[in-house]
Amino acid sequence: MPVTTQSGGPKDRERILKAARNIIKRCDWQYQGWPWASCIRERAEKGTVICEYCEDPKLLGYNKWRGPSWKNYKLYAEEEIHLCVNNRRLALDDALLEDVMVHEWAHSCCWQHGMGIYPGNDGTL
Ligand SMILES: [Zn+2]
Repeated sequence: MPVTTQSGGPKDRERILKAARNIIKRCDWQYQGWPWASCIRERAEKGTVICEYCEDPKLLGYNKWRGPSWKNYKLYAEEEIHLCVNNRRLALDDALLEDVMVHEWAHSCCWQHGMGIYPGNDGTL
């Protein structure tokens, strides 16, 4: 089952699907064995990507962080990620799109900046 895309045009969907396929490969090779890799892989297989016009034109994308869930003592972030399709860098660069999707999906798997390996580990992309 491919990823679900919300909003955005057919071109956005095409780019997102291609990036998701590449991310699955990255998870199987480059990121293999890292704690968040199997979660990111699952997102790339059946996650949801929401395309939107972001208020800040410099923003590339985001994931909504929900903080700890006291019920099960686990950190909790929303599964879906948001991409800012009005960001001009993102519109022109497939490799950047891929990195942003890995980055935001990693956040959705409760990875945080400084934990290593994923693109934008220092908070910038
Ligand atoms: Zn981040």
